[in-house]
Amino acid sequence: MHPLVSNISTVTVNLPLQRPIVSSVGQYDKWPFIITEVVLENGVVGNSYICPYLVNYRQSIESVIQELFKVFVNKPLAPKEFYEIGMRQLSLLGRSGIAMYALAALDIAFWDASAKQADLPLCEHLGGSLANVKAYNSGGLWLLPPEELASQADKLRQEGDFSALKVRLGRRELANDLRAIDAVRSQMHQDDDLLCDFNQVLNFTGALRRLKELDNQGLYWFEEPIPYHEFQNYAELRQRISTPLILGENFHGTDHAALSLELGSGDAIMPDLMRIGGVSGWLKTASLAEAYKKPLSSHLYHEVSAHLMRVTPTADYLEWTNWVDPLLEEPYQIKDGHLVIPERPGVGLEFNREIIDRYRVG
Ligand SMILES: [Mg+2]
Repeated sequence: MHPLVSNISTVTVNLPLQRPIVSSVGQYDKWPFIITEVVLENGVVGNSYICPYLVNYRQSIESVIQELFKVFVNKPLAPKEFYEIGMRQLSLLGRSGIAMYALAALDIAFWDASAKQADLPLCEHLGGSLANVKAYNSGGLWLLPPEELASQADKLRQEGDFSALKVRLGRRELANDLRAIDAVRSQMHQDDDLLCDFNQVLNFTGALRRLKELDNQGLYWFEEPIPYHEFQNYAELRQRISTPLILGENFHGTDHAALSLELGSGDAIMPDLMRIGGVSGWLKTASLAEAYKKPLSSHLYHEVSAHLMRVTPTADYLEWTNWVDPLLEEPYQIKDGHLVIPERPGVGLEFNREIIDRYRVG
């Protein structure tokens, strides 16, 4: 029988960002991490972090994690079963939002503990194999003046010999979006992939106009041009442009992923580990993407997401930023634009206690 789940601790740290986020959904110079550690009766510790953007909600989120944990304490560790039980619990709160974040925080920690218990890297525990994962550097190129973007693009490329970057678009003037694209491209090789993200800033008609104007730019994808929940509008936009359309970082659980795929909202999807419901929610979504034959890319959380991409049949790009690195004893490394999954049991994340003490909130 699997060991019993015995204890939990949570803490929030608010880390300064090397390059502040300047996007249509907000500006941030710090980034909050809620760390969850689940302890089994035999001393094995499973851990996770989630980043809910809004640090002021940390107490609400931590308290939901703690409350939901009571459902699983003193039960034999069974991550998949725990997820199903958790989702049934959430039907009273709603299968999305903070409730889903809390379930994800626990689910990721449970799977980490389960893989450690098996003494295998998470991807091997899930039936996959270790290999490097194709990534793009997403840690910059915000809505900055276009003239600042060329030097930043050069630095971002060099952080891991990346051949793919993502630029944020949706400036008021089309000319400035075009200047931003040119500035970034000036630092990239001809065959490199340039991705772009509008962070939901346009409305439907504005998007129709802007996406048509940018459709000949050879961009790898158009990400979230309009509010995330307008699935039907995404499906209509998609019919009128040729650049692939992608959404999914704001899918709250598999219900959203299924609805979006059914409506044909995107050419590809990009679930967010936290919002999709952790490892268990991701695995279901990966099966949906396979059934609908749509490429799946990741959103943030590159460590756990990399393991999951190894068992995702339609895996495409892994999103990478260095935001979490100061918090980790051994950050994952990038080599030739690919994330290297270390050969360590579980996800292999150990948090730096000094950094936690320095930046903890509350
Ligand atoms: Mg995005």
